[in-house]
Amino acid sequence: MPKPLKLRGTIASQGYAEGVLFVLSTSAGTYRSSGDAGAEERTLRDAIAKASRQVAELMAAQGGDNADILEFQLAMLDDDALSTPAYDAIARGRDAAGAWSGALENQIADYDSADDEYFRARAADLRDIRDRVVQALTGGEAIRPQSGAVLYGDDITPSQFLACDWSKGGGIMLRLGSGTSHVAMLARAKGVPMLVGVAGVAAKGGETVLLDAENGAITISPDSFAVASFRQKSIAERARRQSAMSLARRPASTRDGTPISVGVNIAEPGDVETIDIATCDGVGLMRTEFLFNAGLPDEETQYRAYRKVLEWAEDKPVTIRTVDAGGDKPVPGFTVEETNPFLGLRGIRLALSRPDVFRVQVRALLRAAVHGNLKVMLPMISVPEEYAAAEALFEAEAADFEAAGVTHWLPPLGIMVEVPAVAIAPERFENAAFLSIGSNDLTQYVMAAGRDNGAVAALADVSNPAILSLIANVVRFGKEQNIPVSLCGDAGGDPGLIPALLGTGLRSVSVAPAQLPRAKLAIAEIDLVVRAA
Ligand code: PEP
Ligand code: MG
Repeated sequence: MPKPLKLRGTIASQGYAEGVLFVLSTSAGTYRSSGDAGAEERTLRDAIAKASRQVAELMAAQGGDNADILEFQLAMLDDDALSTPAYDAIARGRDAAGAWSGALENQIADYDSADDEYFRARAADLRDIRDRVVQALTGGEAIRPQSGAVLYGDDITPSQFLACDWSKGGGIMLRLGSGTSHVAMLARAKGVPMLVGVAGVAAKGGETVLLDAENGAITISPDSFAVASFRQKSIAERARRQSAMSLARRPASTRDGTPISVGVNIAEPGDVETIDIATCDGVGLMRTEFLFNAGLPDEETQYRAYRKVLEWAEDKPVTIRTVDAGGDKPVPGFTVEETNPFLGLRGIRLALSRPDVFRVQVRALLRAAVHGNLKVMLPMISVPEEYAAAEALFEAEAADFEAAGVTHWLPPLGIMVEVPAVAIAPERFENAAFLSIGSNDLTQYVMAAGRDNGAVAALADVSNPAILSLIANVVRFGKEQNIPVSLCGDAGGDPGLIPALLGTGLRSVSVAPAQLPRAKLAIAEIDLVVRAA
């Protein structure tokens, strides 16, 4: 009997999995070169076309997020910036497989070394298309794990994830990987437990693994005592999840009956496809940066994206945030190089400095507003003049539409409270139609602890009295002036923070869709009357 091996990892998707260890690898097969540059180029073109067809077929079989992720891969397969260096290498005498792998390796190295976590996370998609094209060249097959297995490897590609049968459980632990990767998003959407940053897996595969992605713990080759206690914990968690699900379609309220509004945060229109509108109080935050990932979007593209969400939400409110580029969200052709981007030209500052870009979004929002209950939110507001300038832009574009007879509606304009200047003196913003506290940025700015820096993560704590007192200050101001106040930072969906947040007087939050059931359960367990006594 091998000795149990205990390891730790960072949680990318919560849950428990008990299964057989499967070490990820692919059998690439062997590529035989024709020795002729023209033939090699044609072979590579055919292989890329075959890989694109496979991705398109996978896309057709998937929906929502999964399709969006594959769309990114399809775009990359079609991108000359990837294939041109490979064709150049063939012209210099390399074979198709070596040329393609070499070109992709360079790109993967660039993405892996990017400062921004979003780009680092996209490296897995590049590995995915590298392997898919190489397999098309060699006729090799990806080796499929049995269902219910716990997968281990450096990283796992979205295709590998989608090719697995997760219906019988199973989980993932990765030596590299990231909580913001596409695979991590897929894992959370499908409820597959996943840990990243797992080092020291000295195992060949076939061993029993206990993956505790609630606490970041792994046991390989556990003894019977460890298995029994793991099963107990996982059964208790399942029961908790079921009671959370039973609350899902009921409006959220505390144990003493205080109603709490719980909206969802979405990043792309496709997100709503897997959310039942009956389970939430509308959209508290729709981030629009996704639209800017593939270059500056035109009015029609934006209009369609906003309209889709507004129609899905029926008469419930949809709060769409104007583009919050900059900081940790660079947009090529829009954001500027800065030594300290979190303190630079981001959010509304950048939008107002580029009216040519901002106006397009404003017009799309004004047109979409007739299709539902739209509210528009301005990010990174610091002074009232920014609010006034944005409001003037909305009014000017609305007047233009009016004159041209274009159907539109001027929605209420609110602001994010995420810069300390606003949270300290909210009375300067009495014109705002609503306030939404961005606890992610508010915390990093108040605590001087970068949200992208793991070394200071312990300082970036929303339960710090300084943050809670600022939240209470904003809530108090909102009540006095009759201005609705909500919170759309990640803290709103964290069961550990919800009691403290409701303790500030806050009665409205917006959370990631996956956090919705647990947030409602945490709210239902709080008795505000007892807490106040
Ligand atoms: C926030 O800062 O809390 C927020 C919701 O905005 P983002 O995370 O998109 O910066
Ligand atoms: Mg923010």
